[in-house]
Amino acid sequence: MSSELKPVPLSAPHMGGGELPLVTDCLQTGWISSVGSYVSRFENEVASYVGSGHAVATSSGTAALHLALLVAGVRKNDEVLVSNLTFIAAANAVSYVGAFPVFIDAEPDHWQLDIKLVRSFLEQECVPREGRLFNKKTGRRVAAILPVHVLGHPAELASLQSLSREFSLTLIEDASESLGSDYRGVKTGKWGQIGCFSFNGNKIISTGGGGMLVTDRQDWAAKARYLSTQAKDDPIEYIHHEIGYNYRLTNVQAAMGCGQMEVLEARVQRRRAIFHFYEQALNKIPGISLQKISAEVRSNCWLSTILVDPTKFGHTSRELRTLLARDQIESRPLWQPMHRSPAYAAAAENKFPVSDLLYQQALSLPSCSFLSDGDLQRVAAAIQNAART
Ligand SMILES: *Cc1c(COP(=O)(O)O)cnc(C)c1O
Repeated sequence: MSSELKPVPLSAPHMGGGELPLVTDCLQTGWISSVGSYVSRFENEVASYVGSGHAVATSSGTAALHLALLVAGVRKNDEVLVSNLTFIAAANAVSYVGAFPVFIDAEPDHWQLDIKLVRSFLEQECVPREGRLFNKKTGRRVAAILPVHVLGHPAELASLQSLSREFSLTLIEDASESLGSDYRGVKTGKWGQIGCFSFNGNKIISTGGGGMLVTDRQDWAAKARYLSTQAKDDPIEYIHHEIGYNYRLTNVQAAMGCGQMEVLEARVQRRRAIFHFYEQALNKIPGISLQKISAEVRSNCWLSTILVDPTKFGHTSRELRTLLARDQIESRPLWQPMHRSPAYAAAAENKFPVSDLLYQQALSLPSCSFLSDGDLQRVAAAIQNAART
């Protein structure tokens, strides 16, 4: 009976055990809120792990992205280049500052921001004026590039870094899914002027909810911290010179984060091993292929994701999802691409063929770091069985 089978989840939190004494310490001492030593300890640990000078913990990854755009000076009516194939948070953060996302399609191998399209947009559709770049069609200033490291695989960071320098744009990495990944030996989050991480429940390590912004610029880190605490200039008189936000991470969450940092490398290794298992087990099934890993990167393999070609496999990705669900195996298509999102309907006029194909065919498979080899074999067997039916 399938109802007696143990569920195999897609990406659930995986505590290491080291979190408990640290969280208990918060509860016993009463340091449970937005002040406390674990917040700065967690910030220091993530900053040194990534190799960044500064880190600011936030209440979510989305909050980190919002603050990143604010401190980078992205303003109302600016434009920001964003991955079209992304979780919507990256686009929403651009909207929060009153700017407009310009969506760029993915490349077909690693499913990251297509660098050729970025270059042709900047060279052909924009014009420099007084040290700034303007979109010829809209007249708006193009202020930043915001690549999302989709599924934990780094975007082409060396090219993005040189393009952003060439065109005087701020490079902000949405590294929410890619903590622990690197490009040419340098961690994601370190390549841009700002990098943003998420510790939401489904990410590689989690604080329940939370995020972090990393940067080498001391002034930007200080500004982000200031804005995240309601821009309070006087702690006694409550004087505020600006409109700020309540975006700070709590000490309890940070304590959990410190415990999770102890096991981050183990989590990365396990997720990579899961990807390699699926590669071995599934790549030979007709109509099934995995996301390719670039030779330039070490991916944290946050979510192992296959493409399902229905003409060769015999089922669509959605049909396979339903078949797996009957065996208590959780899987999920990629997000609706931004140009198809009703929330960003204005983008619908452009063509995004790679995003469309990935949206139709991609299916993320169970990738939790606590899955056993037996769990993985069950997933592979279920896919093999579906191929025959
Ligand atoms: C998880 C995620 C975020 C941030 O999510 P929060 O839930 O706000 O922490 C942003 N971008 C991407 C691509 C994500 O996957």
